[in-house]
Amino acid sequence: MSSFTAGYDFVIVGAGSAGCVLAARLSQDESAHVLLLEAGSSQRTESMALPPAWPTLIGSSADWGDATVVQAANGMAIPFPRGKTLGGSSAINAMFFVRGHRSSYDAWPAAGAKGWGFDDLLPYFRRTERAHGRDPALRGDEGPVVVAPMEPDPFMTAGLQAAVEAGHRAATDVSGGLEEGFGWMDVSIRDGRRCGAAEAYLDAEVRSRPNLTVVTDALVHRVRVHDGRCTGVEYSVEHGTGSEVLVAECREEVVLTAGAVGSAQLLMLSGVGPQAHLDERGVEVVLDLPGVGANFHDHPLSMVAYTPVQPVPTGVGNHSGVIGLMSSPVAADGPDLQLIISDMPLYGPGLRGPDHAYAIVFSAVRPYSRGTVRLGSAEPGAAPLIDPNYYADPRDLDVMAAGLDAARTLGRTLALDPWRGEEVVPGPGVRDAEGVRDYLRRSLGTYFHPVGTCRIGPDGDGMAVVDPDLRVHGISGLRVADASVMPSIVSGNTNSTVYAIAERAADLIRR
Ligand SMILES: Cc1cc2nc3c(=O)[nH]c(=O)nc-3n(C[C@H](O)[C@H](O)[C@H](O)COP(=O)(O)OP(=O)(O)OC[C@H]3O[C@@H](n4cnc5c(N)ncnc54)[C@H](O)[C@@H]3O)c2cc1C
Repeated sequence: MSSFTAGYDFVIVGAGSAGCVLAARLSQDESAHVLLLEAGSSQRTESMALPPAWPTLIGSSADWGDATVVQAANGMAIPFPRGKTLGGSSAINAMFFVRGHRSSYDAWPAAGAKGWGFDDLLPYFRRTERAHGRDPALRGDEGPVVVAPMEPDPFMTAGLQAAVEAGHRAATDVSGGLEEGFGWMDVSIRDGRRCGAAEAYLDAEVRSRPNLTVVTDALVHRVRVHDGRCTGVEYSVEHGTGSEVLVAECREEVVLTAGAVGSAQLLMLSGVGPQAHLDERGVEVVLDLPGVGANFHDHPLSMVAYTPVQPVPTGVGNHSGVIGLMSSPVAADGPDLQLIISDMPLYGPGLRGPDHAYAIVFSAVRPYSRGTVRLGSAEPGAAPLIDPNYYADPRDLDVMAAGLDAARTLGRTLALDPWRGEEVVPGPGVRDAEGVRDYLRRSLGTYFHPVGTCRIGPDGDGMAVVDPDLRVHGISGLRVADASVMPSIVSGNTNSTVYAIAERAADLIRR
């Protein structure tokens, strides 16, 4: 049995990076009644505020705790965290605040996502951030997300010198989107504490708006569609005595911001997706939209780790202070490799190594491989089938092999001599092309950047899910506005781009 709750002008599903932006921006209009629904809780633990504690949030109650399906690349299921709390993945992420290179955004309009190039997004990037002392034409100074470079320490300073010694360019603002090279990592930390989407966008002033209702511990089951129009959502809330199913009616628009996994899952649970798959799962088909859940991709991750011969300063701790963006020898269209120097190793699930190590981590940031998100069952809340299909396209292994090469070159520099002990992972035995590829498969981990399952594309593009205004093709009153709409992944960590997408979505909706 369902009971009906009051009608809203806007219902936003998922209070993650994008959902918090949209709730804050749409409720600026006092006449608009906005409901924000989030499956996770509003509780904050101290670990969620303290930057070095971020790795402990993986597998905590603020994480859905998913894993990929067994990957053909290495026969392993890879843990696949995503945030389940106010702030979503921005509440458990590593706080790097990085734009991709402009070439990776300009690929979007080239593929039919009109209005989504780097220059189109620049005002929205700037609107999100408060980054003092930068080029004001490029970086924002008044936004809610506090952004600053990591404090230099002797180890990271040596890492930056190492990059220059290895022939890389010293960038002035490597996170701004215009440069290749190495520079200080920008992070979203305010007064020593995490500044995620909830802290930045849902502060006390916003939360107290009478026209904004935020409901946590609310699992959305499906969107309701009547005669081709979305009329609201069905969701359940837990009580001490059990759960209650409610319907929130919506007068204007439902906006899905449940993330690259969650938004595709919700569309499919609602009968919007590839017909054959929905039939297989016993979901009544509302609209055969084959692109839902397709085009799923992520940044693969690997690294080279060294034991240090002197203690590596922790700085912010469990973190990287230096980031670099470069073009591999096989780069097709702009830089395709990111390297970070990390004071901790980021071992993938197939690797063992000493905890006491530093690492040079690398990622193919313009991967070609594409996978899927599919329903595990028609039950709301059941774990979805997540298949990034890493390394399905062998070009990704070529780029990662170039990444290992670049990481080792950097690791062997004179500048890092005072720090470097042994290369412990992969170790000196891994040298020839076959050994390197074997290592890359074994060491595969996620960089936690899923995108693409509801991609933007024009009418007539059979695999597009939303149009360039983020409206779901074939259904009125329904948009998607999160990481899932990216046609292809950007060559940087994804959070700042999700904020910019959501900021632009708010403008499109209010227009
Ligand atoms: C461990 C980790 C580390 C990362 N590190 C970085 C980093 O350092 N820098 C960076 O740029 N990016 C990082 N990322 C990625 C970045 O955080 C994400 O790209 C970004 O947060 C995605 O935003 P989103 O709004 O699309 O989804 P999310 O922020 O994941 O939000 C989706 C929200 O929807 C909710 N939801 C889902 N389904 C339902 C449902 N059925 N009903 C109700 N609510 C639902 C979820 O609980 C969640 O709160 C990291 C991610 C992870 C997981």
